[in-house]
Amino acid sequence: MKPQQRIFGRLLMLSAGALALVALALWTGNRTTRRDDGWTDRERLVINESDSVMYVTVLPEDSVLLRTPSVDLSAEQLASPELRTLMAKMRATVQSPQQDGVGIAAPQVGIDRRLIWIQRFDKPGEPFECYLNPHLDSVYGAMTHGPEGCLSVPPMRGHVPRYGSVIVSYLHPETLLPQKDTVHGYTAIIFQHECDHLDGTLYIDRADTLFVSIAWADERAAYDYARPAWWPDICLEANQCLRKRCHELTK
Ligand SMILES: [Zn+2]
Repeated sequence: MKPQQRIFGRLLMLSAGALALVALALWTGNRTTRRDDGWTDRERLVINESDSVMYVTVLPEDSVLLRTPSVDLSAEQLASPELRTLMAKMRATVQSPQQDGVGIAAPQVGIDRRLIWIQRFDKPGEPFECYLNPHLDSVYGAMTHGPEGCLSVPPMRGHVPRYGSVIVSYLHPETLLPQKDTVHGYTAIIFQHECDHLDGTLYIDRADTLFVSIAWADERAAYDYARPAWWPDICLEANQCLRKRCHELTK
């Protein structure tokens, strides 16, 4: 082989290698579902395409989303405009006439991330407050057996044993600084219910008694619970229940 041929051959090999790298980058780029802001394409679709009042996930259709433990929001997600949109839409959803809730967790709008809104009945004016990456450090105090329902389990209600107090750690929704709060009474029960959602647990797993609420069914009959046409495929592909009781309740 002459020197010119060797140089030509090396150039050819280098070009082929570069082409292979470009092809690999394009292939992996097409296959990835995440961008730099940390949200998956499916999550971004749910956040951006939802109306201001979002579709609320329900058993049994959305059992995969409701039963999957949520993960903490990443630093990229915490800094993203999508998080602000999601926070605003979740608040509008829980306060909407058709839901009229006292708390909501992100899996209930199709996002398995640790984010909740809670009505603080223990504060003046009973404001709704947002908690990012909440975790219950401890639950303690006397147990009560109070009535509970869930936006995601219509039209059931039940009596659920709960602790009287919780200590919750979370990130402040504006400053993103770590916070800790001790909460008592009814608001502590809401924290337990919503943080359960983030662990894939529903109140029906803890309830002593469960019954169909005729009042709830009448009250909500006027509203459309239909899943949006654009709702991502994950919610359609598996109607499986991952815990023991939900299939019995929703027959
Ligand atoms: Zn709930």
